[in-house]
Amino acid sequence: ERAALEAAPVTPGALADGTPVPLLANLGSADGAAEALRLGAEGVGLFRTEFLFLDADTAPSITDQQAQYTRMLSAFAGKKVVVRVLDAGADKPLSFLNDAAEENPALGLRGIRALRHSEVILREQLTALAAADAATDAELWVMAPMIATVDETRYFTALAKELGIRVAGVMVETPSAALVADHVLAACDFASIGTNDLTQYTMAADRLLGTVAKLQDPWHPAVLRLIADVGRAGAELGKPVGICGEAAADPLLAVVLVGLGATSLSMSPSALADVRASLARYSPDDAKALAGAALAAEGAAEARAAAQAVASEIT
Ligand code: PEP
Ligand code: MG
Repeated sequence: ERAALEAAPVTPGALADGTPVPLLANLGSADGAAEALRLGAEGVGLFRTEFLFLDADTAPSITDQQAQYTRMLSAFAGKKVVVRVLDAGADKPLSFLNDAAEENPALGLRGIRALRHSEVILREQLTALAAADAATDAELWVMAPMIATVDETRYFTALAKELGIRVAGVMVETPSAALVADHVLAACDFASIGTNDLTQYTMAADRLLGTVAKLQDPWHPAVLRLIADVGRAGAELGKPVGICGEAAADPLLAVVLVGLGATSLSMSPSALADVRASLARYSPDDAKALAGAALAAEGAAEARAAAQAVASEIT
């Protein structure tokens, strides 16, 4: 019986009325693909490519990268896979891209800034990704990390399209990108909100520092209001807005995020089952009611309690 249970197909993510909310996996290598699929991942919402580059003194060759990306995309034939180009710097430094002497690396030449500074590395990565896409049947989307401006958005999407990427978007993980999300989304195909960095930069609290960990809470209404701005812009422009930070793995916050306009959620595969079960308990109006209660609260603890109070009236 246990074997039968384990083999049962997992249903796709959806609200109580059947409104789909695709549930995707955050992955750092193709090794986790089989497990993610077993747990019902409907695709990949964040493939962190840094892990392929760690410990290297130079960027891997186009051929090496293409082999890795092909392996990963092959595991998700027929499914969406969102790959993030190199996010180097701060908590993920790479010797060939970052300057170790920066005093504030989280505010330094990182993510898209570092790639633009060393454009040949970005060109090679996009070339390898386009080749892997052509060789496989997954639906490849590619996004850039640490976008702060519309200019960076235009720069990235133009280069990605020039090199054969069909769907190009950005991560929203700075308050600036969230505050001009209407313009940012007009200049690309989709957005994915990185709540780990968006929280760090909104709360001005280093995500690596235990002494300020209390401030690193995505339930804070300041963070939620920024997410709401992005969700609204996405709905107005008809562009997808995913969430790929840790916040999506919190079963109650996941419902709030959908109420704020998120169209898909990506998380560690181990969180998929609980988030799937939670979403299934709420209608779209319920999700909006939870989101409204959280948005109106004065702080993170109050937002969580307010959403919880609305939830306990519903379920
Ligand atoms: C984020 O910042 O929320 C995110 C998903 O990216 P990372 O954790 O890799 O910075
Ligand atoms: Mg990030």
